[in-house]
Amino acid sequence: MYLCTTQIPEEMQNISTYNFIGKRAIVRVDFNVPLNADFQVTDNTRIRAAVPTLKKVLERGGSLIIMSHLGRPKKAEDKFSLRHIIPEVEKQLGTSLLFAPDCMGKEAADMAAALKPGEVLLLENLRFYAEEEGKPRGLAEDAPEEEKKAAKAAVKESQKKFTATLASYADCYINDAFGTAHRAHASTTLIASYFPNDKMFGFLMEGEIKAIDKVLEFPEHPTTAILGGAKVSGKIAIIEHLLDRVDNMIIGGGMSFTFIKARGGNIGDSLCEDDQMPLALEIMKKAEEKGVRIYISEDVVAADAFDNGANTKICPVDQIPDGWRGMDAGPQALETWKQVIMDSKTILWNGPAGVFEMPAFANGTLRLVEFVAEATAKGSFSLVGGGDSVAAVTQMGFAGKVSYVSTGGGAMLEYLEGKILPGIQAIRQ
Ligand code: AMP
Repeated sequence: MYLCTTQIPEEMQNISTYNFIGKRAIVRVDFNVPLNADFQVTDNTRIRAAVPTLKKVLERGGSLIIMSHLGRPKKAEDKFSLRHIIPEVEKQLGTSLLFAPDCMGKEAADMAAALKPGEVLLLENLRFYAEEEGKPRGLAEDAPEEEKKAAKAAVKESQKKFTATLASYADCYINDAFGTAHRAHASTTLIASYFPNDKMFGFLMEGEIKAIDKVLEFPEHPTTAILGGAKVSGKIAIIEHLLDRVDNMIIGGGMSFTFIKARGGNIGDSLCEDDQMPLALEIMKKAEEKGVRIYISEDVVAADAFDNGANTKICPVDQIPDGWRGMDAGPQALETWKQVIMDSKTILWNGPAGVFEMPAFANGTLRLVEFVAEATAKGSFSLVGGGDSVAAVTQMGFAGKVSYVSTGGGAMLEYLEGKILPGIQAIRQ
């Protein structure tokens, strides 16, 4: 992993230097992990990602109060209980946990107050309370506006007490949940104000922020953004923000066909957002004005059905016959992209080059993993984010061969759009 200098202000508290001796640290982590039917953790990535931060506090003489959400419960429900993940957290952390079966109430407060250095308390799922997200629950869709307004005001009011109670458990606050940094929830944002001089990012957050800042704020040029995936509409804000920052933009996957059709090409039955075509043209014009080179696939692997077993052929991207659809990047496109990527000093990749879920159309995405890894081995900085790109990197066992793999889907996208994330802002303020 590559760590770089950062924009995190120097006067802020820092987890590496903070004095945790005898202090209780309340840490917001993202333990929203997948569970199987027997409630066993099937992917422990998020737990492992939080371990360096948790261990740091313990090694430096502190105790831990860990808080997280799990799933999207509408009330307290056993299937969303964080108690299911205790064995996995204990295994990864190498120590036993205490568990508060309710994140509010006297029991949790007493357990937190009794913590000794080196001890760890896990609080039950924060989202068992509507106050965590600050959104009213159980209101009918068609409830009168007045009623909705009153319910919202009521939950916002009780959210203050909820936040203050969480804060009362601890002496300092650490946010290490990048995945929820774009949400202004009690545990991710509001709680920070209770610790004006004792709040900090955990290592995971710090790493994510540094990696994205390295791409957005002080990249080494040439800089290339590789954008793929299904829809242009979901990535417009990112494209616009990146146009001021990158030298090259590779546009692949389903979203590329909106650009091709807008330019007058025949895309057959490929994915397309007709209503986004004017915007696609505008993006291409803006890119030209700003001197950003856009690379859209020259050729594609086309298929006669949206099916792994479909017949396939290679077509120029603007000559896809009716009844056929572009499913993956073609060999010429991959050759061109490889050259661009190899010549780049900074690389950002988000979104697959094709219908990656079907093995017949995963080649382009997997080749991208190789190119990005090869450029990284030559000394470039590479940041990979987004579910499918991350899955491709992991599937190939290449996570250690790129500079940084982002864990935060939505949070990363919003950061790339140039938005200020409330969870980050709350610590920096
Ligand atoms: P996104 O969530 O926008 O990053 O999109 C990811 C999805 O894009 C994946 O499920 C891919 O299967 C899909 N995708 C990528 N390329 C294509 C394509 N050429 N046609 C249809 N879907 C695609």
